[in-house]
Amino acid sequence: MSDISLLPQVREFLQREHAHFIDGRYCTSASAQRIAIINPANGEAIAQVAAADTADVEAAVGAAHRAFTGSWAATSPYQRGVILNRFADLIEANGEELAQLETLCSGKSIHLSRMFEVGQSAVFLRYYAGWATKINGETMTPSLPSMAGEQYTAFTRREPVGVVAGIVPWNFSVMIGVWKIAAALVTGCTLVLKPSEFTPLTLLRLAELALEAGVPAGALNVLNGNGEVGAQLIAHPQVAKVSFTGSVPTGLKVGQAAMAANLTRVTLELGGKNAAALLPDFDLPGAVAGLIQTGYVHQGQVCAAPERIYVPRARLEEVAQAFSDALRGAPIGSPLDESVQFGPLANKPQLDKMLGFFATAHEQGRIVCGGNALACPGYFVEPTVVIANSAEDSLLHEETFGPILTLLGYDDISKLPGLINDSPFGLTASIWSNDLSSALRLIPQLEAGTVYVNMHTFLDPAVPFGGIKASGTGREFGSAFIDDYTELKSVMIRY
Ligand code: NDP
Repeated sequence: MSDISLLPQVREFLQREHAHFIDGRYCTSASAQRIAIINPANGEAIAQVAAADTADVEAAVGAAHRAFTGSWAATSPYQRGVILNRFADLIEANGEELAQLETLCSGKSIHLSRMFEVGQSAVFLRYYAGWATKINGETMTPSLPSMAGEQYTAFTRREPVGVVAGIVPWNFSVMIGVWKIAAALVTGCTLVLKPSEFTPLTLLRLAELALEAGVPAGALNVLNGNGEVGAQLIAHPQVAKVSFTGSVPTGLKVGQAAMAANLTRVTLELGGKNAAALLPDFDLPGAVAGLIQTGYVHQGQVCAAPERIYVPRARLEEVAQAFSDALRGAPIGSPLDESVQFGPLANKPQLDKMLGFFATAHEQGRIVCGGNALACPGYFVEPTVVIANSAEDSLLHEETFGPILTLLGYDDISKLPGLINDSPFGLTASIWSNDLSSALRLIPQLEAGTVYVNMHTFLDPAVPFGGIKASGTGREFGSAFIDDYTELKSVMIRY
């Protein structure tokens, strides 16, 4: 098979001079610093983007603040919902263009770009749009003593916090960007997004579509550049909240910088070293298929994906063989080729990191399959399965954020919580079993923001998502996001 043809509008978009989207306009930048956007499938530059300087940061936050107190504040909740639904329609209508651009920057297979970056982004946007008319406070009756017949009533209001700085990683730039856009706009906040320097293009295009959908100028701005631009945004006195998705080390810096800036609110969605526990009755074909589907999606570069698998010791070799049989010969190649299952890693630092983990795997464990980079241009590696020697092996503790699953045999189900919780992270975990009683007893013992049974990784807008321990603080989705984007104001009235 061969690559799909790029749309003319994708070719045209790549030719543009890229910088930022500020106050309703695609704009250039006076900054001399340019960042090359590399296609990870061949290592070639496809475009350049200017990095923001302090004047750009000032302009973007200023525009967001004016919209927060002006045009967006004047938009009714109903109208906000209508606009977000129209935005979802435009994402779908321009879906192939967005999908191709995202695949060119991130190496994500074109199927995944279509399904998640486009399809799921629209699903999440419509879910959030439904909240627009349902964000309310409560009424309560105070118990204050009445001395002369006076009475009291009280109510709470949910008020938007203000300008949100949304800092987005490279793995799902459109979808994670949309989560931040939707949560901010539907609560009445405005925002400045800072994409990863590796994947800046699709969020620029998305901002144009938001404007076309009716999001007023200034309510959504996109600033490009490296981490320093994110740091400047966090320090800005008019930024009221930071919503960050990324790695634990950067998240720690972001959290501390936000507190130091102005006790600025911060939500951190960070990494994970997510465990899957196969209980003694597990269904071998179902578990292996499910863990391959979720462990290697986008080459494992998914924060919620399983990375360490605990297997009843007596069945360890059988499970390893099943993984190996399923993965050997799986097509690896261009992410624009619709017949390909595994594309490249998203960028060169990821490739270097994975080569380091392969070296560790050779030293610490037994490689069942994979463990090599491909001898071709681009950042391709084989999907890899390793059997660890012991529970202390670093491959069971360090987040690889790549296509490496590590298996460990266990002897006693009562030891599973200890093995799984022996991690600084707590994002997701999964239990594979039809023994409902054992699964239900295990769930409360696992330190994770989400526990799946007979599935892993899937995110749904109705189900809150976020981490515990070093995997972060705050929740997205469901109704849980409302707390993070609004202040609760109490009003008491004597009459
Ligand atoms: P990073 O933490 O390196 O970067 C995330 C974002 O922060 C990027 O836009 C980056 O810019 C920016 N940034 C870097 N330094 C600073 C700083 N000092 N202040 C403010 N912003 C800064 O993560 P990656 O992009 O490498 O993403 C991979 C990581 O994200 C993985 O560890 C993964 O687990 C985690 N992740 C978590 C998710 C979750 O929901 N829990 C979802 C997806 C990913 P630049 O790239 O330009 O340096």
